[in-house]
Amino acid sequence: MNQLFSLVDHPQRTVIEVQNLRIGEDFIVIAGPCSVETWEQLYETAVAVHQAGANILRGGVFKPRTSPYDFQGLGMRGLNLLRKVAAEVSMPIITEVIDPRDVPWVAEFADILQIGTRNMQNFSLLKEAGRSQRPILLKRGMHSTITEWLNCAEYILAEGNPNVILCERGIRTFERSTRNTLDLSAIPNIRSLTHLPIFVDPSHATGRRDMVLPMSLAALAAGADGLEIEVHAHPEMALCDGEQSLTPEMFGDLMKRIQKLEICIKELS
Ligand code: PEP
Ligand code: MN
Repeated sequence: MNQLFSLVDHPQRTVIEVQNLRIGEDFIVIAGPCSVETWEQLYETAVAVHQAGANILRGGVFKPRTSPYDFQGLGMRGLNLLRKVAAEVSMPIITEVIDPRDVPWVAEFADILQIGTRNMQNFSLLKEAGRSQRPILLKRGMHSTITEWLNCAEYILAEGNPNVILCERGIRTFERSTRNTLDLSAIPNIRSLTHLPIFVDPSHATGRRDMVLPMSLAALAAGADGLEIEVHAHPEMALCDGEQSLTPEMFGDLMKRIQKLEICIKELS
């Protein structure tokens, strides 16, 4: 039997509809802070990314932190804030789930569920996500091969949820000057193996705000279906990942360049 992710029995690309968006067909930008912190922080950031042209608002409320003493996220209170702010700007939301028990109730509030790099092979979480009606953005495990990653997508598909978005977010190599090493070759590689949409997260891939713009342009040029980018109204005050978060101004500039490059790419093809 061929795997469900495979192009063999499913040569047409998967298109996932979220509100009026067509993920896998149109180039989609997810933007917002690493973590939901306060109404003011989220509102200011959401208005800025919406005005710049982002399509989906992100914000973590369960943070899988390396240290148990780091900020762990606001949980249900954060999800409420995310929902309310998103309604103000009319944007769909994506948020990460880290515990299978949270999948059903978080799915009631979030339009897309994210499974992070540290949980890529959390098989009970994948199965629960597969039983959800919501699209799942599955990040690549930082130590994982393409085959391992696709097999994790298969866990979700096999439970009956066809709406999986893959997201390359950098893998761990010997290089220390960036947080991870962005594997841009994963984009054409994935496109040759599966019909599922492939996104790129240049923020976690590099850990450096100065590298987010060039890597975003490179991802689009390499054939990515979308981007996930961390933006914070005041990155110097961020409780998590401030060094890689773009300011609203930087994000506005990035969106203008992305739109120009999209036009160039359409002319070339
Ligand atoms: C995130 O997007 O908030 C996140 C924690 O990303 P990753 O799982 O890729 O580290
Ligand atoms: Mn982050």
